[in-house]
Amino acid sequence: MTGDPVLREAQHAETHAEPSAEDLEKISRMPRTVSPSDLDAAPSVSVGYPNRGLLRFGQRINDQRDLTVKVGSQDSRHGTGELVRVIERAAQEVAFRYPRSRLTVGDLSRPGGGRFRPHVSHQSGRDVDLGFYMLDRRSTPVNEHVFVRLNNKAMGIQWGKLFKFDAARNWALIESLLSHPTTDVQHIFVANAIKRRLIHQAVKEGANPEVLMRARRVITQPRHGAPHRSHFHVRIYCADDDRPMCKDRPPFYSWHQSADQAPAMAALKPNES
Ligand SMILES: [Zn+2]
Repeated sequence: MTGDPVLREAQHAETHAEPSAEDLEKISRMPRTVSPSDLDAAPSVSVGYPNRGLLRFGQRINDQRDLTVKVGSQDSRHGTGELVRVIERAAQEVAFRYPRSRLTVGDLSRPGGGRFRPHVSHQSGRDVDLGFYMLDRRSTPVNEHVFVRLNNKAMGIQWGKLFKFDAARNWALIESLLSHPTTDVQHIFVANAIKRRLIHQAVKEGANPEVLMRARRVITQPRHGAPHRSHFHVRIYCADDDRPMCKDRPPFYSWHQSADQAPAMAALKPNES
């Protein structure tokens, strides 16, 4: 047993999925700060690390006109308020540019967070798996709410049908995720073959250079574990008002300035890809 309250709480979460009355009491007494740029601060609290943490007062993401939670993820659709807003805004922006688009949302966290097999992370309400926007064999946009595993040509077969990666709509998604005014994305894990197509699309469209630079750095194929050929795994940084209970590990990018980071910690490189 450790003296670190965050670790202790995470260990508690591993044995009991539900937060105790004492935990909830403690969290309800935490001082809440509201920054002027985000007047409606989310009441949710992400506790600990994405792979050892909990979620308090999580928000449920609901199906709406431009997003659908896929079959299999209905009981794991809780995130911090910030994560839910980032996802909803991205789905709306893609649908605004490409009418009738519907984002496929996979797992977020369980209602109280905590361990969630088979994932390693997804514990503290700051991770989400998002399906790709797809084209059919005739390159017509489709909305099938399933994760399709894609090959190096960004094509895959599901239910006997051929699906192709829709670079335009997926870049619109990434562009929205990486340009949220108050919430910063730390990671977008996806296979390198997919990343190449996104960057190519961004360059072709003459994307905003700042957003393009962020995309080149934030999007990576994980060096360990699954290469992510069927979905994007997106993680956001801790919200300022969830610290110090909420914990981030590097990388801390230069454009992500927050309360507890010394400038010296800025711009650590995650890896080359
Ligand atoms: Zn994931």
